[in-house]
Amino acid sequence: MIVGVRKIVLICSSVLFSCFAFSQAVKNKQFANPLAIPPLLSANFGELRPNHFHAGLDYKTEGVEGKPVFAIDSGYVSRIMIRPVGYGNALYITHSSGYVSVYAHLQSFSPEITSYITHYQLQNKMHSVDVAIEPHVLLVQRGQEIAKSGNSGSSGGPHVHFEIRNKNGDVAYNPFLFYPTILDKTQPRITSLFVYPLDSLSFVNGFEKKQQFSVRQISPGVYKIPEKIRVKGSIGMGIRANDYMHNVHNIFGVYSVELRCNNELLYARKIDSVSFYETNDINSLLDYEAFILNKQYIEKLYVEPNNSLSFYSEKNNGLYIKSQDKLKECVVTLADFHGNVSTLDFSLVYDTDSLLSVNKERATITNSYQQAFSCEKDGFLFQADSLSFYKDFSFHCTVDSSFYKHEFSLRYSVKSSELCMKKNARISIQTSIPDSLHTKALVRVKVPNGGVFMIQPVITSDGMAHFETKRIGEYSVIIDTVAPYISKPNFSNGDNLSNARSIQYTISDKLSGIDSYYAYIDNQWCILLYDAKNARITLDFSKVPLQFQNTLHTLTLVVVDMCGNETKKQYSFYK
Ligand SMILES: [Zn+2]
Repeated sequence: MIVGVRKIVLICSSVLFSCFAFSQAVKNKQFANPLAIPPLLSANFGELRPNHFHAGLDYKTEGVEGKPVFAIDSGYVSRIMIRPVGYGNALYITHSSGYVSVYAHLQSFSPEITSYITHYQLQNKMHSVDVAIEPHVLLVQRGQEIAKSGNSGSSGGPHVHFEIRNKNGDVAYNPFLFYPTILDKTQPRITSLFVYPLDSLSFVNGFEKKQQFSVRQISPGVYKIPEKIRVKGSIGMGIRANDYMHNVHNIFGVYSVELRCNNELLYARKIDSVSFYETNDINSLLDYEAFILNKQYIEKLYVEPNNSLSFYSEKNNGLYIKSQDKLKECVVTLADFHGNVSTLDFSLVYDTDSLLSVNKERATITNSYQQAFSCEKDGFLFQADSLSFYKDFSFHCTVDSSFYKHEFSLRYSVKSSELCMKKNARISIQTSIPDSLHTKALVRVKVPNGGVFMIQPVITSDGMAHFETKRIGEYSVIIDTVAPYISKPNFSNGDNLSNARSIQYTISDKLSGIDSYYAYIDNQWCILLYDAKNARITLDFSKVPLQFQNTLHTLTLVVVDMCGNETKKQYSFYK
């Protein structure tokens, strides 16, 4: 018990010290809240997400859109974004302190900002915008309403995604550093421990593959694994855990993680900031195979050599357990930002079974991540620069010479110990596409979980399709000659729309995806709002620069896919 208390005190003091050191550097900057409702969160900073760490806080908005959003400090709107995916409608405000606050998934902007960006959209004939704005144009005061909350972009429910970034906008800080009033009294919960044999001569409980161990909870925040884990050779640990907060049922990311064995600190990381240049290396922090195949987020407690994440304060590349080693008593300590701590105790013993054979699969890991790499088959070339993989890897490329209907190349497969790359590989595939259809070519990439992605290649005069990707899988070339779909709008031809505020319809495209979309009323270009997750387009009459005087109008809708296939529809209405 006393040991437990000491551990907690140590963790709290190290967390507090770092917060203190950081806040000294930021001069104890205190910002106003972005919302007027009590702050309840649905996501925290640093949560593990596909290909990135969550770069901010998600504020709940009582399940509805339209809550006023306020500038957290005085400054100016420095960037406005309107996108069908991602952040959707978003505002960036630059403050005199040098910080930039970001508010995303908004429903709408304040009238002044709307008027500015509508003018910009009409002038440039752009629906989606990402525009930088000079300091003197859109000034805001601390606490001024700048927007209404929404669910735009890739948001899965009404909320405000909120970030605090550095001046350049390339580093996001943990907003908890600026909002000490957000309270949390619930410690992280640990689900399971994983132990990985890291080379061909390593074993866990006699197995060549990673082993999962369920944890037993002794008391709140205190976990252990009752059995001794038998290990031999190079091994690494991994943990599945989440943080929780009181008053909400959501799952959160864990702020800090440490691993100690026999009192030696082997792994420590704490997430106070994330650089957008590094965030993709989450694919190395995670057990990527478990993520892609089972949607499990397991944090590896060892660091691969080409992982560039800078928030580690201690990193090991695995433990080597040899015969003369005594029992290793290990503890994983997890903490949230507010000093609530959970620990997991477990023991490692040397596996005395000397009859273990070599793991043949792992024995083929012979390519160095430090060297450039290529693999060539008839009509296929895979090239990777040095440092394209996170660690040494096995690699085989094979060709399936069967003929598949509707495909314009053979199928080429890559099998590798790594399912994800840090940098793009350059791939070339021989195709049999006639010259006239070169612009319709698409590379179909099938990844190990069955997911399919389309990439537009460049086709050279020799018929080779060239493209870049980080995805390991099966590649083949198809063509897309099918035009996109446009639904009937929400009115009938010839209707009187005098009282209507908008027109709505949906669009979709099967293979290559939507590239561009247009609407014209009597040849006048109109701003469209495209909500990709609902496939829905809205034409807001208040943004149409026409005087409607109860006359007949022609509406022309156009959608073009990535391969240049176009659909055009025309309707008429009175307004
Ligand atoms: Zn978010």
